[in-house]
Amino acid sequence: MDIRNGTIEAIGRTPLVKLKKVSELTGCTILGKAEYANPGGSVKDRAALAIIRDAEKRGLLKPGGVIVEGTAGNTGIGLAVVGNALGYRTVIVIPETQSQEKKDLLRLLGADLREVPAVPYRDQNNYVHVSRRLAKELAKSEPNGAIWANQFDNVANRQGHIDTTGPEIWEQTDGTVDGFICAVGTGGTLAGVSMALKDRNKNIQIGLADPMGAALYSHYKFGELKSEGSSISEGIGQGRITANLDGITIDHPFQISDDEMLPIVFDLLKEEGLCMGGSTGINIAGAVRLARELGPGKTIVTILCDLGTRYQSKLWNPEFLKEKGLPSPDWL
Ligand code: PMP
Repeated sequence: MDIRNGTIEAIGRTPLVKLKKVSELTGCTILGKAEYANPGGSVKDRAALAIIRDAEKRGLLKPGGVIVEGTAGNTGIGLAVVGNALGYRTVIVIPETQSQEKKDLLRLLGADLREVPAVPYRDQNNYVHVSRRLAKELAKSEPNGAIWANQFDNVANRQGHIDTTGPEIWEQTDGTVDGFICAVGTGGTLAGVSMALKDRNKNIQIGLADPMGAALYSHYKFGELKSEGSSISEGIGQGRITANLDGITIDHPFQISDDEMLPIVFDLLKEEGLCMGGSTGINIAGAVRLARELGPGKTIVTILCDLGTRYQSKLWNPEFLKEKGLPSPDWL
């Protein structure tokens, strides 16, 4: 029998999928960790569960308590899924620019959703700061208390990946993995997986796939946090060194444009049937760059973060792409 005892146990132990076209193209084995297969549909279920379990252990989160978070959507969905399964309410602060599909799912899951204008982190009205203040207020007024999940600077996030995602990748490849690469939102995935892998074999090469508009590429390449341009990808694109990123080693930083990412997600749907979100496209484009740098014959792993159905009104909408001056294939 192979049974997961409820929603919580259904998080993690996701399949590792060979991506055929990019593997052929590079002569490497490029593998995608199918995080869209988690109950909340994204890689962020792992962080949500790790943060909640940590807060329970520390005695901060009490039965019937409230979890407050600022999120591009997927962490909120993960928190709502885990919260529903464990009896916690969720209050989610989201920048209004995020896809309607994620907002709809959050409301459906019963999250108390607060949309705020998308302003930079240095502005006190940024969603992260709004959620922190809201958590402080609710901690006083809620009968069972409230916590702020604080995914960016709460290292329980990356610990979840040190404990689960990293070891799973090591075991699923029988330790043959040569490189790992992904984009950064909080940095929990990149930091946690890279720490777990380097701990097992320090020669494993770690790449960063940074979208335009993020500042980490220039930080890891030139030692300076600087950004230019923008990306239609959601959930990634960081402008500072979060606590989750603190102390990690990046061997190969890459900057990936939407023009480089889009043909990859279009081909993946048309030729392999996988309809992915934009951050996954950035990740796979990064895996191709890393494969070219490491040379043929290597095994490279990246993350398939979430499904394209979460972005049908944007990335998968030819009118939206045209408006942004981005290419879209005839068949879309
Ligand atoms: N892709 C998507 C779609 C996401 O929502 C996120 C998280 N915001 C990421 C990638 C990045 O993951 P992490 O926060 O672990 O860096």
